[in-house]
Amino acid sequence: MSAVFHKYDTVIIGSGLAGLRAALEASRHGSVAVLAKLYPTRCHSTAAQGGIAASLGNEEPDNPEWHFYDTAKGGDFLGDQDAIEVMCEDAIRTVVELEHMGVPFSRTREGKIAQRRFGGHTREFGRAPVRRACYSADRTGHAIVFALYEQCMLQKVEFFPEFHVFDIVIDSGRCHGVVAMEIETGRIHAFSARATLVASGGYGRVFKTTSNAHASTGDCLSILLNRGIPLEDMEFFQFHPTGLYGLGILITEGARGEGGILINGKGERFMEHYAPTIKDLAPRDMVSRAILMEVREGRGIDGKDYVHLDLTHIPRKIIEERLPEISTFCKIYIGIDPSEEPIPVLPTAHYAMGGIPTDVDGRVLRNEKGDTVEGLYAAGECACVSIHGANRLGCNSLLDTVVFGRRAGKAIGVDTRGGEPGRIPSDVIDKVTEEIDSLLNSKGKERIGNLRASMQRQMMEHCSVFRTEEHLSGLIKTLNELKDRAQDIGLADRSKRFNTELLEAVELRHLINLAEAIAPLCSAEDRKQRSTLQRGLSQKG
Ligand SMILES: Cc1cc2nc3c(=O)[nH]c(=O)nc-3n(C[C@H](O)[C@H](O)[C@H](O)COP(=O)(O)OP(=O)(O)OC[C@H]3O[C@@H](n4cnc5c(N)ncnc54)[C@H](O)[C@@H]3O)c2cc1C
Repeated sequence: MSAVFHKYDTVIIGSGLAGLRAALEASRHGSVAVLAKLYPTRCHSTAAQGGIAASLGNEEPDNPEWHFYDTAKGGDFLGDQDAIEVMCEDAIRTVVELEHMGVPFSRTREGKIAQRRFGGHTREFGRAPVRRACYSADRTGHAIVFALYEQCMLQKVEFFPEFHVFDIVIDSGRCHGVVAMEIETGRIHAFSARATLVASGGYGRVFKTTSNAHASTGDCLSILLNRGIPLEDMEFFQFHPTGLYGLGILITEGARGEGGILINGKGERFMEHYAPTIKDLAPRDMVSRAILMEVREGRGIDGKDYVHLDLTHIPRKIIEERLPEISTFCKIYIGIDPSEEPIPVLPTAHYAMGGIPTDVDGRVLRNEKGDTVEGLYAAGECACVSIHGANRLGCNSLLDTVVFGRRAGKAIGVDTRGGEPGRIPSDVIDKVTEEIDSLLNSKGKERIGNLRASMQRQMMEHCSVFRTEEHLSGLIKTLNELKDRAQDIGLADRSKRFNTELLEAVELRHLINLAEAIAPLCSAEDRKQRSTLQRGLSQKG
């Protein structure tokens, strides 16, 4: 079957908040196509619960400088502080702009945007918690996605729903566009563009227990890695402290922001020992480590491997009004009413701090000198502007997506003015077709489900909150074996139309590729070596 060709000024992969905000901006400068492997509004951004950070000071005094300090400190001072400043300084304008676009934020009595507490958000540089999270009950992501989607409709952005990107075309230091498959028909489409923006979200599906959607498989990071683009900070993967036990479904930090507390098997509020000032509202890495320490030392509930998140002292009315979504999750998935019983929780893989290296305007960097790839941009969770260092603060990701999505859209407008359109060579299209045909015709004996479960279990056991040299070296060997076995996958479904098995096979290969980037000596282990070196240097100094 021959390919269908399209030509746009800008092509965007992903209809999450980063993709939508960038599309809106880029559409002021030319034609824009947004491709998404799901229906556009089913992106993971829609699942975001707790809020978006901005120091509006609507409930109590706050300012961008405190926000800046919390973000830098929360990331263990490993983020790029110039970039953090850009984000925190732009936060207030961003939230007001979203409000004007129609986001239905929850309100204070006086009608201002309501704000609540969140982990690591403090006043006066760590002195006490502050109300900085702007929210729309616990459906904040949903509210923002729908407002931005409507704005994109008004701007005549063109959407290609259920188009799965197979390749991003980079030739002679320049990006030319993408090759995608229309899932409904199996047809190949080539999109050439002056600018290509990758906004394809996270890759939590590398781990067994995760809050991330099934589609969060990091395809485009893996494609770029194969195309020779470096990835940054891949070892930094955040574990959110409160995933529903056994399922990993997220219980927003907003639950602790509204007064929820963590309790161990002895009935103690154990965070008082680990973070005496901000207790349950300490940054996520600290709380996740504390929960697992309690469990390891035998203080889980009934000696088991979970602790309780207790909301029973919070008035039912507040839970119904501000946390309706998580309340429903608890009832549906584990049969618990959080107003009456504590919720069993354990850390869940949540957010990728690492990703495609970019400058503050979304331009993809191809080396540590700061050289860029012409025509290639990235924003959102797949990108690493390096705001979040080693640990992202709650509510800073939604902010990151809209601040840097907008900046990337603006940069595209400036950089590509009068530029040459992209050109997709036929051999790239042939290669994608061959990849699909070889999977459809393969007589391989391996099954996707087995390989995926094995990878996810291994990553969870050996590369989650605590990592040791011994565990990591065993893991690297296993991942190598899994990578080889993934070349021998056999499919039960050989049709071209809506072949989700085919897509899962491709996603699995990408996931293993990323697991290999997170785990090996060149990542977590290398970080240890580098920090030992730095310690050595500072001792000398
Ligand atoms: C349960 C949950 C709750 C959260 N709550 C909050 C919160 O309260 N506050 C906060 O700040 N952050 C929160 N986060 C984090 C935040 O929601 C995400 O980091 C952010 O929404 C990511 O947005 P994005 O635009 O980068 O990508 P996404 O919203 O993940 O969108 C990715 C897009 O890329 C498309 N795509 C991917 N691969 C391909 C491909 N191969 N071909 C075509 N399309 C592709 C997808 O279809 C999708 O449209 C939460 C995350 C989770 C999982």
